[in-house]
Order: sequence, then structure tokens, then C-alpha cells
Amino acid sequence: MRYISTRGVAPDVRFTGALLAGLASDGGLYVPRVWPRFSSDQLQRLVGCSYAEVATTVMRPFVHEDISDEVLRDVVQRAYGVFEHPDVAPLRPLGENRWCLELFHGPTLAFKDIALQLIGQLFDHALQSRKQRTTILGATSGDTGSAAIAGCRGRDALDIFILHPHGRVSAVQRRQMTTVQDRNVHNIALQGTFDDCQRLVKALFSDPACRNDLQLSSINSINWARVMAQIVYYFVAALALGAPRTPVSFAVPTGNFGNIFAGYIAHQMGLPIAQLVLATNKNNILKRMMDTGEYRVAAVHSTLSPSMDIQVASNFERLLFDVAGQDATVVNAAMASLQSCGSFRIPNSLMREIRALFSAHSTTDAQTTAVICDVYQRTGVLLDPHTAVGFDAAAQVGHDDTPMVILGTAHPAKFPQSVQEATGVFPSLPAHLSDLHQREEHYVVLPDEVGVVESFIRSHVRGCDTIQV
Ligand SMILES: *Cc1c(COP(=O)(O)O)cnc(C)c1O
Repeated sequence: MRYISTRGVAPDVRFTGALLAGLASDGGLYVPRVWPRFSSDQLQRLVGCSYAEVATTVMRPFVHEDISDEVLRDVVQRAYGVFEHPDVAPLRPLGENRWCLELFHGPTLAFKDIALQLIGQLFDHALQSRKQRTTILGATSGDTGSAAIAGCRGRDALDIFILHPHGRVSAVQRRQMTTVQDRNVHNIALQGTFDDCQRLVKALFSDPACRNDLQLSSINSINWARVMAQIVYYFVAALALGAPRTPVSFAVPTGNFGNIFAGYIAHQMGLPIAQLVLATNKNNILKRMMDTGEYRVAAVHSTLSPSMDIQVASNFERLLFDVAGQDATVVNAAMASLQSCGSFRIPNSLMREIRALFSAHSTTDAQTTAVICDVYQRTGVLLDPHTAVGFDAAAQVGHDDTPMVILGTAHPAKFPQSVQEATGVFPSLPAHLSDLHQREEHYVVLPDEVGVVESFIRSHVRGCDTIQV
């Protein structure tokens, strides 16, 4: 499989190239040149298979030139063996023809574990076979940092440094990062805001000496491998609910468009998906885009579902490229317009194609709380605020004639205050995290100064001398 850039300039690469680069050199995102297709018979044979078996079959065509079946099976086993639930992502009924696909049984209780557990393994494998090492550097406002750390801890070829704003993340979020003991994990509490953390990380990435000496890399949400890992659970859920004989629909709490784009790919690969419901909170750029055909950036609002408080949905670029028939000129024109005036228009012919599969809804905080309360009273299930936004969108714009799967993107115990306010019930942490507040923490507090952070990183990376990309 060759991977091409959505901006049309960077040379094409194989899987490992896309994995290690993240962003393409022309600023675009990597996508496979063609979507692998599964026939109805091939899908039928996957019915009843385990998560790991489906994962290996679905991902094989994307990676097979670089990763043998044996290694892929091994990597998948190790990535998903750590999940608390034997099914990895179980389906829980939520009423008539509705299910929650629980994607939050990984080490940090959110769906990002599904991609980051795998990507940590894949990075380690790719780097070890090239006899290279890398330094993963990132900033977090709370959630992604812990999932990235959980995916990279203990990996020989990786060191990971995560900056969080000192005193501005919740105790649970901080402890999920700082109580990890492995010596390749480094937490920096920066004396500043999340924006300061991001600015500092950007400065280090754009300093060529620093970038090269440290072999800096990131595993952010535009990395192709993260999207790929997420395709799997659409297959798992649909096959459990009657596919390929019956189509299934999905409602997806959406921020960066990575999760729901994986659903689009599953559809392109032959999985019968009737409808993809794009669920947003008050940060509803994608809902407005669906209504008007115009993608226009607005101010970011804080909501009860903070992991969706995003205005620029980076992965949308991949959808635009695909519905435009892989025409990079369409993407380049859109991105130039976004840069110069904060918006772009999507041609009507492309909007028709997008609207044929996607519907969108935007949910306020008040509605989110009402949904958490209502679902709890009717079913006894506690939803986290992100999943509740998905549930509301399914109820408002979902078609009734197909089974509807709401993607459960976070465990309720990850957002206990909101859940308690809505239901009166305080959701407790699962057993493997119940002693989180007693564990020993490791982190340094550093001032918001590039030089200081850079020297800290330089003095803590393990030998970087053998590398040459
Ligand atoms: C990241 C995240 C989302 C948004 O996912 P995208 O792939 O960015 O659309 C939704 N819910 C939770 C809990 C998340 O952590």
C-alpha cells in the first residue's frame, strides 16, 4: 500500500514512512492511495471472531508490505491484551435498537487508548528494526497526554516528554500521567497555560538542531496509524449486530474528526454503514459545515465535554481529499482560504456526497446533563458527557430503521463531577485505578522558557547517537 499526501506534493511512502513522519513534508496528511475492499463473504467469515482477529484482518492490507502477519498479530495481542474487558470494546444495550460501544476499557479510560496502545507498539517495532530511537514530545490539556504515556511507557526505542500546564489539569488527569514509573517517561509541569505548553513544543519542533539531535516526533491525532487502529471497532460492532446482512449506523462524539473518519473508511472498505452521525458540543464547526457547506472557524468554548472543545477539525482534510476524488488542488485551495480568511466553501457536488452518509447535531451543556440523567433513570447506565453528546445526536437525527451504535469515548469516572451533578451518583474508578490517589508521582515543574525545557530534555533522553532518518 502506498500513502499519498492530501496536498499532492510530498513523495508517496509506505506504511512505516507514514507512521514515523506523522505529517507529510508538504504539510498534508497521509492517506492510502486506494481503500482495500472486503466482500460480503469475507465479512461473513469475520462474524464471531475476537477483537484481535478482526483487528489483524482489517489492518493487514494497510501494513503488510512493512509488517509480517506474525508481527502484526503479536503487536495486536500486546496492545489489546492490557484492556480490562475480555472483548476489548464490548457493546452495551441502551434501549430499543441502541447500543453503546464501550471504547474506554484501556489503561486511561478513554477511546484514545485503542489507537495509542497500538501505535506505541508499532513505533517501537519500526524503530528497532531500523536501529533508530525517537523522542516523543507533546503538550496536553489533560487527556491525550496520559493515553500517549500509557502507549509509550517501557518501550526501548522511545523516550516520551509530556508538558502539561502546572496546576491546571485535574488531579485524576495529572496522576494518570505522573504515577507512571518507567524511566522513559518524563512529565513536565510548565508554569503557564496549555497554550504556553503548545507554543513551547512548537518552538522545539521548529528548531532544526533540537529536532535532529533529539529525533523529535509526535503521535498526534493526524498520524495515519491512529486513524487505522480506529477502523477496527466499527467492524467489530457492526459484525456483532448483523452485518454484513443488515446495515448498522454509528453516532460519534467528534472533535478532530479522527474517530468518525475511521467510520467513513470502514464504509469505503465495504462495511454496510447506513448513517454516520456527527455529534458535536457547542464547538460545532462541523455541524455548521453540514448545514451551510461552509467550514468557518469560530472561537473555542469550554464545555462539559472538553475533549471535543476544538474548532479546527484537522482530519476533515482527509475526507475532503477523498470525496474530491483525491484531487489535491481542492484541498490546497481550501487550506489557502482557511489561512487567509478563516473559512472555505465546499462545492455542492461534494456536499451532496458527504450528506449522503453523514448527519450532524450540536448539543448544549444543559442537554448533555439532561441526557446523562435520562439515560441513567431509564437504563441504570452512567454515560460520560462526551458519550452523552453522541447519544443525544443519535436521538435527534439518527434514522430509526437500523441498529444505532453510540461510540462510548470515555469512562464516566473520567468526568465524575459532571456525572454526579446530572445523576447524584459519583462514578467510581475501576479496580485497576482505585489506588491512583495513593501512588507516588514523578514530575518536574519548569518555567515557561524554551531553553530550560530544552536542556531538561537533552539531559534526560537516553542515547540518541545511532539514529539517522
Ligand atoms: C479525543 C476525544 C474525542 C474526539 O475524538 P476525535 O477523534 O478528535 O473526533 C471524543 N471524546 C473523547 C472522550 C475524547 O478523548
